[in-house]
Amino acid sequence: MVRITSLGYPRLGEKREWKKLIENYWAGNVSRDELEAQAKDLRLQFLKKQADAGLDLIPVGDFSLYDHILDLSVQFGIIPKRFAGREVDLDLYFDIARGNKDNVASSMKKWFNTNYHYIVPEWSKSKPKLTNQRLLNLYLEARQVIGDRAKPVITGPITYVALSAGVEDFTAAVKSLLPLYKQIFTELVQAGATYIQVDEPIFVTDEGANLLEAARFVYDYFSKEVPQAQLIFQTYFEALINADKLAQLPVVAFGLDFVHGLDENLAAVQAGLFKNKTVFAGVVDGRNVWANDFETTSALVKSLQEHVGELVLQPSCSLLHVPVTTKNETELDAVLKNGLAFADEKLAEIKLLAEHLEGEVNSAYEQHVADFNALQEADFRNVSLENLADVPRQRQHDYKVRRRIQQDKLKLPILPTTTIGSFPQSPEVRRTRLAWKRGDITDAQYEDFIKAEIARWIKIQEDLDIDVLVHGEFERVDMVEFFGQKLAGFITTKLGWVQSYGSRAVKPPIIYGDVQHIQPLTVKETVYAQSLTNRPVKGMLTGPITITNWSFERTDISRAELFNQIGLAIKDEIKLLEEAGIAIIQVDEAALREGLPLRKAKQKAYLDDAVKAFRIATSSVKDDTQIHTHMCYSKFDEIIDSIRELDADVISIETSRSHGDIIETFETVVYPLGIGLGVYDIHSPRVPTKEEVIKNIERPLNQLSLEQFWVNPDCGLKTRREPETVAALEILVAATKDVRAKFGK
Ligand code: GLN
Ligand code: ZN
Repeated sequence: MVRITSLGYPRLGEKREWKKLIENYWAGNVSRDELEAQAKDLRLQFLKKQADAGLDLIPVGDFSLYDHILDLSVQFGIIPKRFAGREVDLDLYFDIARGNKDNVASSMKKWFNTNYHYIVPEWSKSKPKLTNQRLLNLYLEARQVIGDRAKPVITGPITYVALSAGVEDFTAAVKSLLPLYKQIFTELVQAGATYIQVDEPIFVTDEGANLLEAARFVYDYFSKEVPQAQLIFQTYFEALINADKLAQLPVVAFGLDFVHGLDENLAAVQAGLFKNKTVFAGVVDGRNVWANDFETTSALVKSLQEHVGELVLQPSCSLLHVPVTTKNETELDAVLKNGLAFADEKLAEIKLLAEHLEGEVNSAYEQHVADFNALQEADFRNVSLENLADVPRQRQHDYKVRRRIQQDKLKLPILPTTTIGSFPQSPEVRRTRLAWKRGDITDAQYEDFIKAEIARWIKIQEDLDIDVLVHGEFERVDMVEFFGQKLAGFITTKLGWVQSYGSRAVKPPIIYGDVQHIQPLTVKETVYAQSLTNRPVKGMLTGPITITNWSFERTDISRAELFNQIGLAIKDEIKLLEEAGIAIIQVDEAALREGLPLRKAKQKAYLDDAVKAFRIATSSVKDDTQIHTHMCYSKFDEIIDSIRELDADVISIETSRSHGDIIETFETVVYPLGIGLGVYDIHSPRVPTKEEVIKNIERPLNQLSLEQFWVNPDCGLKTRREPETVAALEILVAATKDVRAKFGK
C-alpha cells in the first residue's frame, strides 16, 4: 500500500476564520480563553479534514497563531533583548511579532522564494532553553482525534539558525539548540510519535553547501541521543544540494521536492542514493493552484519506486502557500474550475494517485485526467498573439542621445524631484471604494470622487513645487490585482487567500490563459491628471516580472513565455499613453529582485528572461518618451548588470531597508543612466530633517553625476497619512533646492 501524507495545512481557514479570530483578539473583542478555544477548534477541524482525505500521516505543529519560526523562537527562549525579562506568554509572542508602544517588532523576511514572511529570530547572549512544551501538547491533542497518524513537524536546527539574526558563532548556536531538540524528540517518542518531520530547507540553497559538516554533526547527535526518533530530513522548493553526501545522514527518511527540484532530485534517486531509505516524495505542486498532470506524475512515481526502500507520496511543500479549496469558486468557468486544485483538492489528488498506483480502477482518476486535458486545450490557452520577432527589444538610440532629446522636450532642472506613484489612500478613499463595490454609490459617483482626489493631489504637488507629478493611484487597491482585473488571461477568485505574514493575507490573481491587452488600463486617470497641469505627469504601470511574481502563474508554458506575454500587453498600454501625450512612463518592477531563483546557477537565466520581457514592454517608444522603473528591496550588487540592461532612462530604488549597502553598490560600479536613490524612508511615519535629506542627496553624488541623479522618496506613499507625506515632501523639495543652489544651478 502506498502511504500518503502532507507537510502542512493552510492556517487561514476557508473563510479566513483564523485571521478574523486573531485580529479580534488584538482588538480586544475576544478573550484569551476564547482565542485558545477557537484556535483549537480550527486546528482539530484541519486535522479531521486531512484525516478524511485519507492521509496516513498528518502534520501536527504546523498550525500557528502567527508564524512557525516565531513559535520556535519563543519555545527556545530566543527573545529579542528589548523584550527580555518578561513572562513568556501570548502577549510577549504577539509583541515580538507586531511591536508595542515601547519596542519595535522583530523584522520579517521572505521564507525562501515564497511570498510568506517569517519573523527573524534575534539571538542575544542568553543561552536558549525550553520555555514550553508546545509541540508535545499539540501532538497529544492531535492523538485524541487522529491517533498515531499524527506526525509532528518542526523546523530543524540548522535551518533555524541559518535564518536567524545576531548569531555570532554558527556552530555554537546550533550546538546550543541540540539538547532542546533532543528533549522535544524524546517527549514526542515517549508520547507515541513515529515519524517526525524535520524541515531543513536551507539544504536546497547554495548556502546549504557550506553546512554539510553541521548536518553530519547534528544528525549523528540525534541518531545517538534519540535513536527511537524516526526523523524525516525534509527539504523543499529546490533539489537537495550535495545529495551524495547528505543522503548518508543517519535518518530513516528524506523528504524531497520532485516539482521544483525535479531534475536533480530524480537523478539522485536514480543514482541509488536512497536505495534503503524511505523517500517522502513531493509530487504535487504545493505552491501553485493547478490540477496535477496525473499521467506524468504516475510515470514519475513508478520510476521513483524502483530506486528507493519505500516511497510515500505528498505535496512538494507545506500547503500554507495555497488557498484552502476551490469549492466556493462557484462563478468560475467549469473548464477552469475543474483544472484548479487548492489545498483540499491537492490532498484528494494525492489519494487518487496512490490508489491508481495500487492498480485500482477509479473513475475519479480518469475524470481528473480528462479535466486536466480540457484545460490545456481550452481556447483561452491557445490564442494567437503578436509575433515577438516583430517587436523591438532595443530603443532607437542609446541613452546618451535619448537623454538629450528628452531634456530638450522636458526641460527639467538638475536633480529633478518626483515620487514613486501612489499617494495616501485615506480612510475616505477606502470608504468610498467600499461603498462603490457594495453598490451604494454609482460608477459615475465613484469616478468623480477619484477625479477630485487626483485634482487635489495635482494641486498639492504643484504647490510643493515637485517637477514630475503622478496621479496618485487612488483607483488601485493593489498594483498587481488592478492589472489582473483588466487584462485578459487573469481571474481573481472569491476566497483564494494565502497568508503573507501574521494575519495578513493576499489574494493573488490567477493567470489562467494567454495574457492580452483588451482595454486601456490606466489611460483615463493619467490623461485626466495631465490635463490639469503643465508639468509632466508620469504614467504608472506594473511590469511583467512583478505581475508574474505576485500572481499564481501558469505552469503549462515557460516562465519566460509568460513574462513575454505580459510584456506585450504592457507595451500596448504604453503605446496608448504615449499617443495620449504622456511623456514619462514608469514601469514598476518592485518584485524583480525577490523573484530571483534560490540557486545561483539558475539566476542568470531568470534575469535574462526578465530583461528581455521588460525591453519588449518598453523599447517600442519614441526616443523622447522617458521610461522609468522602480524597484523595492536591497541587495542590488548581484543584479546590477541586469538592471543596467533594462535600459530604463531612469530607475528609482528603495534604499532604507539596506541602509548604506545600495549606496555602496553604486560607489563601486559604473551606472550610466538616470537614477534616484530614495532620499528618505517611507516605511515609517517619521518626517526626515532637511539635513538628513541633503546628506542623502549629496553622498551618492560622489559617484553619480549631478546630471543623472533624481530626488525621490524610496517607495510608494500609499500606506502613509497625508500630513506626514506633505511635510516630508516639503523637506525633500527644500533640500533639493539647497543642493542645487550649492552647485550654482
Ligand atoms: N508605483 C507603486 C506605488 O507607488 C510602487 C509600489 C512598490 O514599489 N511596491 O505604490
Ligand atoms: Zn517600492
